[in-house]
Amino acid sequence: MGVPNPRSPAAVAAYVLSIIEAAADTPYIGEPMSQTEHSLQCGFLATSSSPPVDEQTQVAALLHDIGQFTPVADLREASRAGFTGVQNMGSSASESVGRHGHEVIGARFLLALGFPEKVARLVESHVAAKRYLCAVDPGYHATLSDASKKSLVYQGGPMQGAEKEAFESSPWCEDMCRLRKWDDAAKIVDLEVPQLPSWKPIIERVLQENAV
Ligand code: FE
Repeated sequence: MGVPNPRSPAAVAAYVLSIIEAAADTPYIGEPMSQTEHSLQCGFLATSSSPPVDEQTQVAALLHDIGQFTPVADLREASRAGFTGVQNMGSSASESVGRHGHEVIGARFLLALGFPEKVARLVESHVAAKRYLCAVDPGYHATLSDASKKSLVYQGGPMQGAEKEAFESSPWCEDMCRLRKWDDAAKIVDLEVPQLPSWKPIIERVLQENAV
């Protein structure tokens, strides 16, 4: 459907939901489920979190992997339209296997679409949050799959020093860690969760609050 112009909350909400819907045939890497199912499950875990989390965090959970499966043409279109922060996404986004830095691509794309800073930062940090959690939560590493333990090594291993301090100084550190755990858990085959239309009003509210 293409990047909406003008970017009203209703149009942007419908647009990002159409991107997730279109990923129904895209497998979630390493799991017998689609990117759509994984996104919906992650969002569902956020909405049913105890203690409850705000709607920005819920929306970040739903959209955390959007940089992984948004068509390159859409990323380019956002870039061409001159939206801030999206200009340099072209080359990395065109890599075919497991786009490098999908968390950064997603965060920039969402900022360009008018999502709040918090949503973008939560999306951007969901890969690094694994490295942070491994550093501070001894039980967390044991919960990772073998593939995830292996990739941790390539990702730089558990965070330490200044990088770790910077991560925990974020006012959103706690929600970043929560999102990571929902992401890890959102791999349950055939789990019934609320579908995409239920997200439209929530996304619209988050965009509306940021617009005023
Ligand atoms: Fe994910």
